[in-house]
Amino acid sequence: MDHFEYRDATLYAEDVKISDIAAQVGTPFYCYSSATLRHHYRVLADAMAQAGLPDTLICFSVKANSNIAVIGTLAQLGAGADIVSQGELMRALKAGIPAEKIVFSGVGKTAEEMRVALTAGIAQFNVESLDEIDVLARVAQEMSLTAQIALRVNPDVDAGTHEKISTGKAENKFGIAWEDAEAAYAHAAALDGIEASGIDIHIGSQITDLAPFRAAFEKTADLLGRLRAAGHRITRLDLGGGLGVPYQKNNETPPDPVAYARMIHETLGDAECQIILEPGRLIAANAGILVSSVVRAKRGQAKNFMIIDAAMTELLRPTLYGAHHHIAPVEQSGDENNNDQWDVVGPVCESGDFLGLARSLPEMQSGDLLAVFTAGAYGAVLGSNYNTRPAAPEVLVDGKRFEIVRKRPNYEDMLRTESLPDWLG
Ligand SMILES: *Cc1c(COP(=O)(O)O)cnc(C)c1O
Repeated sequence: MDHFEYRDATLYAEDVKISDIAAQVGTPFYCYSSATLRHHYRVLADAMAQAGLPDTLICFSVKANSNIAVIGTLAQLGAGADIVSQGELMRALKAGIPAEKIVFSGVGKTAEEMRVALTAGIAQFNVESLDEIDVLARVAQEMSLTAQIALRVNPDVDAGTHEKISTGKAENKFGIAWEDAEAAYAHAAALDGIEASGIDIHIGSQITDLAPFRAAFEKTADLLGRLRAAGHRITRLDLGGGLGVPYQKNNETPPDPVAYARMIHETLGDAECQIILEPGRLIAANAGILVSSVVRAKRGQAKNFMIIDAAMTELLRPTLYGAHHHIAPVEQSGDENNNDQWDVVGPVCESGDFLGLARSLPEMQSGDLLAVFTAGAYGAVLGSNYNTRPAAPEVLVDGKRFEIVRKRPNYEDMLRTESLPDWLG
């Protein structure tokens, strides 16, 4: 579900014409819909409440879309944040997420990052190794504080997703091995400065089937029983993110948040724990599009190329994972019968720079607008300045209004941090 739709053959974000934003902002740009962000958050929150899990904290995974206006929109609804770096902590706080709703994930937290997060007073550290437990305990002792931690355990289930976004298999770098979990809790319990009060899992991303989640949650229930029998006081279960979204128009059925919530209730409903969820993609993906202009259409011998002003630098997923994103003209031609097959490519000097292959599109002219859909998660955040391309601006729409929430840097901005060394000056 999203709020990008055609009215009179032109694409709107809520009540704003995409072509009006393009005229003011220039292309390429990302366009986010507040109503879609809110809708996805509420669907999940309502599903959890209706499944009988009112004690749920939904921590938006900031790495999926870290614009402070996006985080702020969710903060207003009561969302927490799942962060993986000091920078994301600063974004979440600036966007208005209270520290006590922030959980800190990630396999490489430094002692300095731990200090900053402890000073802020975050809710929970998701800790991924014995060494990290020891470092956090030492840092917290030095500050005379107690860190609430959850051990991220690796349930060794196959999430059935792309290998680069699968995290819950034994061979992945994430988490503490399932067989070592009880010993790790015993180790943590013996240390001052930390309280191991939670269990954390996250098995991967863009998971389109509930079965791997069920397998992981059942294992979690089992571990919870064993930990409690050993005397550990576990009060929080962090079940991670990973729910998939439809990237194709029409022929995909994403897992239903209602069924997901019910399944959590079935597997862990009697755990008497707060449930923490860390959705990223589910909330943000369909809430964003990438808008680009055609630079030129180039007909080749073997293929036709639609060269546009967006590239792998604005949306890396096709290049990185072979991911599919629906692409369509902002102004509908009304005559799809005359469409040709086009590879939609950017100007970046890499053969892997494409946004879509063999797409059916009408002949388009230089300056015509195209929309790349489902670009609200893992879009802008994975952007780069490769080929010295300025970061595309981000625009947030809310009903009839829109605002630039990250502006396009000029070239002076881009070069500001560089200098010629003395010997070249
Ligand atoms: C990436 C990540 C998420 C969010 O994943 P989505 O697939 O976007 O929901 C949640 N938790 C952790 C630990 C992550 O690394």
